Amino acid sequence: MLKKFLREAVAIIVGKQSEGIADLLNTKKHMNEFLIAKKLDLTVNQTRNLLYKILNYGLVSFIRKKDKKKGWYTYFWKIEVLKSLEFLRSTLVKRTDQINYQIKSRETKEFYICKRCNIEFNEENALSYNFTCKVRGCFYN
Ligand SMILES: [Zn+2]
Repeated sequence: MLKKFLREAVAIIVGKQSEGIADLLNTKKHMNEFLIAKKLDLTVNQTRNLLYKILNYGLVSFIRKKDKKKGWYTYFWKIEVLKSLEFLRSTLVKRTDQINYQIKSRETKEFYICKRCNIEFNEENALSYNFTCKVRGCFYN
């Protein structure tokens, strides 16, 4: 279950096709970004792009280590489980609110459809355009 939730949280940010990165990052120790790239079959730059996107939302953390010989830094990453779950929860709460709003407005408001243009107008819009279609000025009822 946790695995599924982590995948969902990551998918919201980087899309369904990249959600597998959540499984890789769900480790106790931070993981070498070159290894992540290899396992995902991506370049290191593509992998970093994904990781930085997720980092923007605080769902991953990193440490960096300097290679003493070569002098460059290698980054190691892992997922932040609690933050990911909180992110998923708040996203789902927002969606639920939107759906509830849609349900409420379907129950309480009138909608008008222009059959010619196949477009729907709510009451406010229909009224302000005097019950003509905003697109081509068709009349509808
Ligand atoms: Zn129309």
